[in-house]
Amino acid sequence: MQTNQAKRAVIILSGGLDSTTCMGIAQAEGYDLFPITFDYGQRHKVELENARQVAAHYGVADRHKVISLGFLKEFGGSALTDESIDVPDMTKEQDKSESEVPVTYVPGRNLLFLSIATSYAEVTGAEAVYIGVNALDYSGYPDCRPEFIHKVEEVMALATRVGVEGVPMRIETPLSEWTKAQIIREGMRLNVPYHLTTSCYNGQKEACGVCDSCRLRLKGFAEAGEKDPIPYI
Ligand SMILES: [Zn+2]
Repeated sequence: MQTNQAKRAVIILSGGLDSTTCMGIAQAEGYDLFPITFDYGQRHKVELENARQVAAHYGVADRHKVISLGFLKEFGGSALTDESIDVPDMTKEQDKSESEVPVTYVPGRNLLFLSIATSYAEVTGAEAVYIGVNALDYSGYPDCRPEFIHKVEEVMALATRVGVEGVPMRIETPLSEWTKAQIIREGMRLNVPYHLTTSCYNGQKEACGVCDSCRLRLKGFAEAGEKDPIPYI
């Protein structure tokens, strides 16, 4: 194997806990990391800086792509991209919703992300694209479901030269069936730099601690018996 060029993977890196864990997992799997981050007008823009720091931590800042998808903010339609829609505060009873698609869902986001990541993967010769989707905590998000991922993988095989030539790329979703606590335990084992990550939907320098995403994160650290290294308001 030594004579072969190291295998490569594109990692969709948001600067959050899940995607940063994917960096650690892909590295442990022996991949050269090619991170890609999307600026889609998210209110939690502080993520972008986190993503840069994570890429630098893994020594791959030079191949880290930050791609502007500013048009998603023009579309709006999500609490993450539309100032007129509030991010739910899970301490308030009226903000809790059951089973339906959450207002923090960004229409078409993962479909776009995977399409663009496919392009970067094909150009760099990557054999896999890692995305930190989770089917447990984000079960309300249609584009986090395994059936969605499998279909995109089929489309990737049809859409790319490497697919036509018989070596299609894979989509790796190592976190898909894990609880937050399992993700954090594995990340701690792999020395994932959680101090460089953020999960808060509200986008201040310090995390709010009460949005859906902060709550999941704090609960995950508590269940994993670990201390979250980032500051909270
Ligand atoms: Zn928050």
